[in-house]
Amino acid sequence: MSTKKCCTCNKIKETNEFNKNTRHKDRLSSYCRQCSSEQWKRYQENNLEKEAGRKKRWYAKNIKRRSKTNRAWRGKNKERQAGLGKLWREANRERVIEKTRRRRTIQANLPFIWDEIIDGGNVKPNEKRRIGQLRVYGLGRSLRFEGII
Ligand SMILES: [Zn+2]
Repeated sequence: MSTKKCCTCNKIKETNEFNKNTRHKDRLSSYCRQCSSEQWKRYQENNLEKEAGRKKRWYAKNIKRRSKTNRAWRGKNKERQAGLGKLWREANRERVIEKTRRRRTIQANLPFIWDEIIDGGNVKPNEKRRIGQLRVYGLGRSLRFEGII
């Protein structure tokens, strides 16, 4: 096993303790993994605003990837997910009450807003019989309903 000296902590470590860096002659970083991760942490702490922007941009850019990852996580962690949902609802009581109120209002108004549902493209006109089964949070995404509530 070959070794290399880290130029930050000056310790001699095995080469698998170093990240790859193709720009270097030996294709290894000058810093050991531990020093690199500490450096990265320090950088993040000293650049909180920059980091927040970077994360925000990453989230925006990776919507599909995130929803795929999240779905996989939820599939594997059903119980945790249920627990988290409960915690969230407890911490956001007012939002839950508001959501319920909106849902009930929409349900109460369903027969009257039928034309808007059709315009919103959520159901076809001949699916009128499904009116009682519509899931309201799906409808809520349509801006058309904002004025009705
Ligand atoms: Zn080091």
